[in-house]
Amino acid sequence: MKLDITALLAGKVRVLPFRYEIAGGGDDLPMPPAGVTLTSPIRVEGKISDSGTCLYLVLDAAADYEAPCDRCGEAARGVVSCHLERMVAEAGAVDDEDEDYFVACEGELDLDADVAEELMLSFPSQILCREGCLGVCPVCGQNRNKGDCGCAGKEAERVDPRWQALERLLREQNDENG
Ligand SMILES: [Zn+2]
Ligand SMILES: [Zn+2]
Repeated sequence: MKLDITALLAGKVRVLPFRYEIAGGGDDLPMPPAGVTLTSPIRVEGKISDSGTCLYLVLDAAADYEAPCDRCGEAARGVVSCHLERMVAEAGAVDDEDEDYFVACEGELDLDADVAEELMLSFPSQILCREGCLGVCPVCGQNRNKGDCGCAGKEAERVDPRWQALERLLREQNDENG
C-alpha cells in the first residue's frame, strides 16, 4: 500500500500513525523460504514522526505461517515478525539505494517490498512443531511425539557389533582348541 505523507512533509502534522495489511500472493514481493506458506496477510503497524530535523519511521510487521516441522515433518504453525526503523526522505534528497532511508516519491511511501523482505529474513533457522519435538525414530520411522515405538529400548539391549566380532573370534578359537 502507498502511504500518503504529504501532510507530514508539509508540516501540517507531526506524527502519522498507520496500520494496514499486505495481501499475499501474485505480487512481486519477496517469498517465504522454501516449504513455508504464509497463512495470513502481513500485518503492518507503525508511525512516522517529524523530529524537527528528520522524518523517522518505526514499524512492526507480522504474519502467520505454516511449514513442515524440521524434525518430524508434521505441520508446524507460528507467527513471524520483524521490526524496522528508518529515516524517511523524499526522492532526490538521498540516494535511492541508501539503506538508512525509506524514499518517498511525490509524497507517497511504498513500504511493502521492504517490509516483506525484512519479514522473510526473520524466520527461525529451524522450524519446529513444538519446542522439544522428539522427531521420528530412525529405525521404524514412527513420530516419537505420538508415543514410544520401543526401538530405543531394543537398541540398548543389542550387543555392540564390535563385541559381537570378538565373541565370534573367541568361539572359533575354543572350537579349534576343543
Ligand atoms: Zn515436530
Ligand atoms: Zn522406532
